[in-house]
Amino acid sequence: MKKLFIANWKMQLDYNGSLALAKLYQKNLKKVKNEIVIAPDFTALSALKEILKKSPLKLGAQDCAFGLKGAYTGEVSAKSLKQLGVKYVLIGHSERRGYFKEDSGLLKFKIAAALENGLVPVLCIGENLTAHKTKKAHAVLRRQLEEVLFGMDISNDNSLVIAYEPIWAIGSGKAMASAEVEASHVFIKGVLAELIGQIPRVLYGGSVSAQNALDLLEWPNIDGLLVGGASLKVDEFSKIVNV
Ligand code: PEP
Repeated sequence: MKKLFIANWKMQLDYNGSLALAKLYQKNLKKVKNEIVIAPDFTALSALKEILKKSPLKLGAQDCAFGLKGAYTGEVSAKSLKQLGVKYVLIGHSERRGYFKEDSGLLKFKIAAALENGLVPVLCIGENLTAHKTKKAHAVLRRQLEEVLFGMDISNDNSLVIAYEPIWAIGSGKAMASAEVEASHVFIKGVLAELIGQIPRVLYGGSVSAQNALDLLEWPNIDGLLVGGASLKVDEFSKIVNV
């Protein structure tokens, strides 16, 4: 089965920078054996759709509105994202949970909006350093999954993706040990089977690099990677997706 890679450019690039990097991606990643998604900021989506027209690379968004349409100043609807050619949308990234206080109730609406518009939500979950150190990570992951997905009708295992991103590993240069990631993914998949009767793909994110990608991807339950910092360098990202 193909692995899924999502490049999360966050707000690291301005509009011109996003277009320049997308052109490099397009040039360097013409033939790909895995599924590769670029998630630039909202303003760049339309131009990237054009740049990636003949490319196997797909488009992702970093967030979407919780409402379908209406008086939600500053928001971007899932419907508009769909019209721009977006396939995947990140929901509940830890930076959004942290800076914008996004909670499970809100994330539930965002997932529903994405599904209703034919997008694949990528629900981000992960424990903080204290939970990790006190061995409470699994309890945190179970709670995060239950709070958002309880009662949701997920029609098949391709209509949702989970990104497991231990908060302490994001941008820290300290990726989680691959055996520990695998164990967490097995745990997450068990909870998903109970909760929604489906086992969607589970990606790992947190200081992924060309050095640790191969080791992570060799495990059977690590279905792909969500890459932040290392996705800003086309050479490094190409190595990651071609391991
Ligand atoms: C992220 O923010 O989703 C992420 C995984 O970042 P990094 O790869 O830089 O740790």
